[in-house]
Amino acid sequence: MSAASQIKRQFASDNYAGICPEAFAAMVEANRGHAVSYGDDPWTEKAADLIREVFETRCEVFFVFNGTAANSLSLASLCQSYHSILCHEHAHVETAECGAPEFFANGTKVLLLPGANGKIDPADIDRMVNKRTDIHYPKPRALSLTQATEVGTVYSVDELKTLTDAARQSGLRVQMDGARFANAVVALKVSPKEITWQAGVDVLCFGGTKNGTAVGEAVVFFNLELAREFDHRCKQAGQLASKMRFLAAPWVGMLQDDAWLRHARHANEMARRLDASIRALPGAKIQFPCQTNSVFVRLPEPVITAMHQRGWRFYTHVSQDDCRLMCSWDTTEADVDEFAADLKSLLHPG
Ligand SMILES: *Cc1c(COP(=O)(O)O)cnc(C)c1O
Repeated sequence: MSAASQIKRQFASDNYAGICPEAFAAMVEANRGHAVSYGDDPWTEKAADLIREVFETRCEVFFVFNGTAANSLSLASLCQSYHSILCHEHAHVETAECGAPEFFANGTKVLLLPGANGKIDPADIDRMVNKRTDIHYPKPRALSLTQATEVGTVYSVDELKTLTDAARQSGLRVQMDGARFANAVVALKVSPKEITWQAGVDVLCFGGTKNGTAVGEAVVFFNLELAREFDHRCKQAGQLASKMRFLAAPWVGMLQDDAWLRHARHANEMARRLDASIRALPGAKIQFPCQTNSVFVRLPEPVITAMHQRGWRFYTHVSQDDCRLMCSWDTTEADVDEFAADLKSLLHPG
């Protein structure tokens, strides 16, 4: 592959970015010589220990290849096939996993809740749980919360506690989709425990990929009982890496000197810069508060087409027809300014 086949830095997704230097260096280091396979290696042990340090508690840690696997396998471990999972209608588990949660949980149904700014309203949990309690309806058993949400907002500590209290009262366990957990931690300026186990989360899917690794998410069980036989579930689903050290080593690189937080803080800052530039443009309508590393903006159709023609890539299907602009660990101020200048020239020709 030549350099010419690379595309310029884009705002399409934070997974367009490459591997950050800290994760890459750890993989190079892990590549020296042989190591025991299937996770019985020092890198996997070290990565899990660092995750326990980050959360300041005993927890069970498993590394899987991607977020779809992390979400669906963790949800499957909370439910029987006749149960149901409550999540926001924009949740990745509903809109972007091809039915994997239902598949891996053998038919567990996903039930959708509305909610402004990508967030679930606690009252809707009670409403959904009590809507049907008869034998003919799948029994609600899990609540899935996305932190940061699909539209880049965050649940505060108090919001989380209210939601998980409502969940507990209805007998639901709580799973958190943290594909962008790092971005939420820095946005809220909290320690990771405050928005996970201390706030009533049973299991977290801790995202590495969008934060700067090549591949791999960590499934972190705070409720240790729920982690029972999860290793078998991963293996059966094709999610047990034989060369596990290469999923684990990047986490060591990311966590040991807080690179994960630095990268997330940078991505969030770039989004704030982009948000400020776009807000200054009449004709561009920002859709959600910019709290993490995304900006959602409504633009006239011809402007979207013209931006695409200028080579900019971004999604337009995540929330209605909004353009979703994602910043990543390697987004530069110049990238943001170039995008904003192009947009300005199209909204105000001449
Ligand atoms: C990206 C993402 C995931 C994981 O997606 P994969 O492509 O399966 O790795 C999960 N949840 C959310 C909210 C995401 O944005």
